[in-house]
Amino acid sequence: MEWDKSASLLLEKVPPFIQKTVREKVETLARNRGKDIVTEADVVAAREAFMNKSGSQQPITKQQPKHNEKLSVLRKYSKYFDENGNPVLYHINTCRGTEVNCPFLITDPKILADKLRKRLEELNFTEKLINKIEGHILPHHTMKLAVSGCPNSCSMPQIKDFGVHAIESVYVDPDCECIECMKCVETCREDAITVKNRQVVIDKEKCVHCGLCAKVCPAGSIKAEEKKYRVMIGGKVGRHPRFALDLLPTADEATVLKALVACIDIILTNKTERHFRTLIEQLGIEEIKKRL
Ligand code: SF4
Ligand code: SF4
Ligand code: SF4
Repeated sequence: MEWDKSASLLLEKVPPFIQKTVREKVETLARNRGKDIVTEADVVAAREAFMNKSGSQQPITKQQPKHNEKLSVLRKYSKYFDENGNPVLYHINTCRGTEVNCPFLITDPKILADKLRKRLEELNFTEKLINKIEGHILPHHTMKLAVSGCPNSCSMPQIKDFGVHAIESVYVDPDCECIECMKCVETCREDAITVKNRQVVIDKEKCVHCGLCAKVCPAGSIKAEEKKYRVMIGGKVGRHPRFALDLLPTADEATVLKALVACIDIILTNKTERHFRTLIEQLGIEEIKKRL
């Protein structure tokens, strides 16, 4: 089995007469964690396991072998494990708006994605989901999330369990007279703006809250409101694909996080292993809205 550089350096520090034994024990542990290459984390974990066995620290929990067995299918996919080999039963996609300096970007999606990730960790989502599922954990049991920096939704929040995209709503400011340059009309892809006799009308049904018209208006006649998010839940692909349902058409960051907690609660407290979309349909989206 291959060892990376930092793991090899740690092994070199072990007295030569027990190096062979240590090597075998670490490799067994790494293999059990589904690894092909031994890393520093495996060496540290093996050392801790050894110390626990010697009685100098907490005993090893009996749950570990059970977890290992439950995770055996997921071990075929590295994306369900962090760099230390620990399971992570959620995945958050973000669009590349910030990296590519996207002209449509409203808000850096990675900022919200980090907060969603932190909340999932604080709530111990992975551990609780492992405990909830009786048999093998399969890819469809894991939670898929996506955040996009604008309504173009490049990270596809519409087909995720929990999807979010940034929005920037606009309004007409009556104190700033329109000069009829028509830049807003040319910019709006939704054909949502009408300008006649210096009167600007925005069709709220057509508007997707991209905020672009406010950016191009030289007179300040169209202005942007505070940047917010749209939250949708229950999207899925597969045998019966479904687009996500609108949970919150407009929400601030705190409300998005609250919505995530409500969704996790539904997933974890339901005794069955039904797909999140099925749980939403059973409960009703309006009932979930009431919980926020
Ligand atoms: S979702 Fe919007 S901001 Fe993100 S990459 Fe796509 S167009 Fe750009
Ligand atoms: S915010 Fe976007 S979709 Fe809405 S009116 Fe302006 S340009 Fe059109
Ligand atoms: S961009 Fe502004 S000034 Fe130009 S037509 Fe639109 S609202 Fe009027």
